[in-house]
Amino acid sequence: MKKYKTCIHRLGDYNSNFIYMKREDLIPFSFGGNKARKAKYFFDEIDRGNFDSVVTYGSGSSNHCRIISNMAKQRGLECYIISPKEAFEETFNQSMMNLFDAKIQVVSVDEVSDTIEKTLESLKNSGKNPYFIQGGGHGNLGTRAYVDCYEEIKEYEKENGIIFDYIFFASGTGTTQAGLICGQLINDDNKKIVGISIARKNPRGRDIVLSSIYEYFDEKKINKNRSLIEESTIFVDDYVGNGYGNMNDDISKTIENMISNYGIPMDSTYTAKAYNGMEKYIEKNNISGKNILFIHTGGTPLFFDYLKNKNI
Ligand SMILES: *Cc1c(COP(=O)(O)O)cnc(C)c1O
Repeated sequence: MKKYKTCIHRLGDYNSNFIYMKREDLIPFSFGGNKARKAKYFFDEIDRGNFDSVVTYGSGSSNHCRIISNMAKQRGLECYIISPKEAFEETFNQSMMNLFDAKIQVVSVDEVSDTIEKTLESLKNSGKNPYFIQGGGHGNLGTRAYVDCYEEIKEYEKENGIIFDYIFFASGTGTTQAGLICGQLINDDNKKIVGISIARKNPRGRDIVLSSIYEYFDEKKINKNRSLIEESTIFVDDYVGNGYGNMNDDISKTIENMISNYGIPMDSTYTAKAYNGMEKYIEKNNISGKNILFIHTGGTPLFFDYLKNKNI
């Protein structure tokens, strides 16, 4: 399979640290992002199989649902999306899902899993062969996508004679983080891989990352010391505010600084929330003189929602 590869560039300094950014947002499909990297692995399996439809779930602002419906449309596959009505929003991602003819069912959050079952069953009963993808591209294929991303980071380090001490990014379902940590453990490296939670609190948020790591190592029959895995899993929930999508003035400032000073779009739900969280974490822990990589995980359409909502 041909994989996506993204660039890393030096951004600037913060608190006497050297900040670099890996631009997953520049993956060349449907505004990119970590969901595009993960989706490629799922669709590789779909392309090798005999599937005629795809079923997944996510909110109206979901980058995952945009990418999945775009990749399905490209192949002429039907795409079914189950969306919890509590998190239903009119966003540009939502408009694109409509553009790609996704069949969206909006149900209350406690009916989501039943509706998925029913949708899969009725597709099968009508002779179809649906492929199911978990929300956010969660699961071993999604994890593998970020094991491979970790290998790209290693390559950059070798080519440029630099070692990153820290890697920061927005952590949601935890698959991105699980993949990066698996990559690090496979390579016996000892960076600090810090997921900044954008929604979940501990201990649940971190436990989900851990279970994704165990699930991946189980499947690959890789044996790693349990306490080393535990030690390597840093899931910071200090900056979630009032949960998913909740923002504050500091996050707004990050969005406006990033686009004004660097020309980099960020959004309030994921990347700017995590970037701002990273800065606070650096200050709080007196980190200085380190090489720090921030992974821009995408979500560019949500940047435009930010502008629209601000009436700029
Ligand atoms: C989904 C998403 C994340 C979180 O990734 P997980 O693998 O679910 O932890 C981060 N940033 C953006 C832009 C996303 O869309």
